[in-house]
Amino acid sequence: MIVMKETATEEEIEAVIDKIERAGAVPHRSRGARVTVIGAIGDVEQDASVESIGLEGQPGVDRVVPILKPYKLASSQFRHGERTVLDIGGRKVGGEHFALIAGPCTVESREQVLATADVVKDAGVAMFRGGAYKPRTSPYAFQGLGQEGLRLLAEAKERTGLPIVTELMDARDLEPVLEVADVIQVGARNMQNFPLLAEIGRSGRPALLKRGLSATLDELLMAAEYILKEGNPNVMLCERGIKTFETSYRVTLDLQAVPVLKELSHLPVIVDPSHAAGRRSLVGPMSLAAAAAGADGIIVEVHPNPDEALCDGPQALLADDFADYAAAVERAAMLAGKVFSNA
Ligand code: PEP
Ligand code: MN
Repeated sequence: MIVMKETATEEEIEAVIDKIERAGAVPHRSRGARVTVIGAIGDVEQDASVESIGLEGQPGVDRVVPILKPYKLASSQFRHGERTVLDIGGRKVGGEHFALIAGPCTVESREQVLATADVVKDAGVAMFRGGAYKPRTSPYAFQGLGQEGLRLLAEAKERTGLPIVTELMDARDLEPVLEVADVIQVGARNMQNFPLLAEIGRSGRPALLKRGLSATLDELLMAAEYILKEGNPNVMLCERGIKTFETSYRVTLDLQAVPVLKELSHLPVIVDPSHAAGRRSLVGPMSLAAAAAGADGIIVEVHPNPDEALCDGPQALLADDFADYAAAVERAAMLAGKVFSNA
């Protein structure tokens, strides 16, 4: 929508209309008591070119107000209200399909990874998670096992048949990560690492894109757009808690993001209750709430011996409790009309 200045002349208005037509959109002129407003109507692609013809600086133009969202491929309109359903090694995510993704925060040892993988496999999860490259606040904290961690994930995949979700922090590690990852996780701290997003887009591998700690939903969707724009349609959005003034828990799990993202976008929405909670006792209740709110999946941390975990132990579910937890999440997902996705 182009709002003209009160002082705009007829020639200036005509010049704007002419430019809109040349960009392939249809101008709609409405003359108010004091100002003229011109709507530029076209499909999403054409509107983008309206934006790019530089009406903002044109004589007589007061301001240009975009009516459509700044993201296109991620928007609900792009798929005319149809939901995207991903198929990851036979596990569906999105639409009516709910995926429970579970595993340790970090790959620490062969015993820890394989023990956890067995437990979550037996509980019927859709995918196994585990980080080999870890984004740590302190450079002195354990940074992950790197390539050795990837090798252990490959062994867990071989043993359980579960697809692997693991984080890529640096585009230079793309090749080894692609060898084992069925889903590449983009951590909250990398949500706006645009070259990394583009690289994942070009790889074509499904991505789990975590919301940044202070990112708006529009910023999350713009980040998703970077992956989609490279021709990779396999993106899951992940709400994992945002920074607010509240200090009683690690960060605030924004569950309203679930229905709102599903209004704004066709992409599946996953919730990570572990990183928001920061402590085990909150993970169960928030998982049930997320599933009941219509999330398309949950990614959760589990550990056979959280007291000895090298990262995020306090928020890890106990492996011994995991089967009961998974059954409760499945019941909540059913309440929201979902079917559990497993092999
Ligand atoms: C994780 O999944 O272990 C992790 C580091 O998540 P986030 O990027 O959301 O903090
Ligand atoms: Mn973690």
